[in-house]
Amino acid sequence: MAPSTVLAGARVVLPSGTADDGRVIVDGTRIAGTASPDAEVVDLSGHWVVPGFVDLHNHGGGGASFAGGDAEDVLKGVETHRRHGTTTVVASAVTGDLDFLARHAGMLAELAQQGDIAGIHFEGPFISPCRKGAHDEQLLRDPDPAEVRKLVDAAHGHAKMVTLATELPGGLDSVRLLAEHGVIAAVGHTDATYEQTLQAIDAGATVATHLFNAMPPLGHRAPGPITALLEDERITVELINDGTHLHPAALQLAFHHAGAARVAFITDAMDAAGFGDGRYLLGPMEVEVSDGVARLVEGGSIAGSTLTLDRAFKRAVTVDRLPVEDVVAAISANPARLLGMADRIGSLEPGKDADLVVLDADFDLVGVMRRGAWVVDPQLG
Ligand SMILES: [Zn+2]
Repeated sequence: MAPSTVLAGARVVLPSGTADDGRVIVDGTRIAGTASPDAEVVDLSGHWVVPGFVDLHNHGGGGASFAGGDAEDVLKGVETHRRHGTTTVVASAVTGDLDFLARHAGMLAELAQQGDIAGIHFEGPFISPCRKGAHDEQLLRDPDPAEVRKLVDAAHGHAKMVTLATELPGGLDSVRLLAEHGVIAAVGHTDATYEQTLQAIDAGATVATHLFNAMPPLGHRAPGPITALLEDERITVELINDGTHLHPAALQLAFHHAGAARVAFITDAMDAAGFGDGRYLLGPMEVEVSDGVARLVEGGSIAGSTLTLDRAFKRAVTVDRLPVEDVVAAISANPARLLGMADRIGSLEPGKDADLVVLDADFDLVGVMRRGAWVVDPQLG
C-alpha cells in the first residue's frame, strides 16, 4: 500500500469549525482518518487548508469555451480553473440553436461521464428578452416543457441545472418537469414580479442565477424577484464576487439576508478567465475583454466574468471581511450539496475525495490537490 500523506500544521477549515493546528490525511484519492506509519508529512505551517472549490456556473477559461468549444477546449478550460482551486466544475452552455445545444450537451455528457466535469448547466435559451444580458435575442424561446425535456434528455443524466425566466408561458410547467427529473430549476435572466417568483419557488425552483444580475432591481412597491429569492429558505442564491458584477454592499445584503448556508459563489467565467484581455466569443456573441471586464462588442452589456474562484475567495475574506468558514460554505459546501455530491466533496472529512486548496496567510492560492494528486504543488512554490 502506498504511504499516506499528512498535511500538517495548517489552519484547516472543517465542518465543525477551524482547527488551528490541523491535519489532513490523504490516502490514495481520499481523505483518511488515520495515517500509515510511514506517512509522508508536508509541513504547511502558516497556511490555510480549505475544501476544493465547486463552481456551479462557468462558461470557460484559459482561452477555451465550455459553451462552444470541442472536448479538447473544455478540458483546457477545466484545467485552467483547477489551477485556480476549482476541483469541481459544472460546464455552462449559453443560448443557442436547440439542435446545436443538444449536440453540444452530448459531447459535454461524455466528459461528465469520465468525471472531468460535474455536469451541464443550460443558461438559456428559455430566458426573457427583457433581461437577456449577453444572450442572442434571435435564439431566445419560451420555456416549452417539451423543449426543456429535449435538452435534459440530450445530457444523458448529466443535466444539473437549467436557468429559466419562469414567468414566461410554460415556465412553471418547465420548473415542475425539471424538479421531477432531479435537475435544478434556477430563476434567472428573468423579468418576473415578486409574486411570479414565489410561484416559481412553489413549483420547485431552488437556485437564483447570479442574484441581482439580469433581473429587475428591488423596488419598495415592486420588490421583484430579488426579495422573493432572498427571503425564501428553499432558494440558494448565486453571487459573482468579482467587484464588477455586484457592489460590495449588495453582496453583504445577500449574505446577511440569506445567511451563509444559502449563498453559492460562482464565477460565470468566460474564456478570458485565467487568460487575458482581447476578443472572444461567448456562444455566438462577440465579446471584448478589457481590464478583465467582459462586455458585448455590440451594446456593451456585461458578458460573463474573468473571475476564478481563488480570487472570489480572497476578495470575500480580505475586502468583504466575511468569516473564512462562511466563505468555505459559499464556495464549496453549498454548491456540493446542490449538486447532490455532498457525500463525496465540499468538506474535508474522512472518506471524501481529497480535493483541497492551500492558501497562504494573505489568502493567495499556493496549492491545489484533486483526488489526492497535486494540481499545484505547494512545495514547489
Ligand atoms: Zn452565465
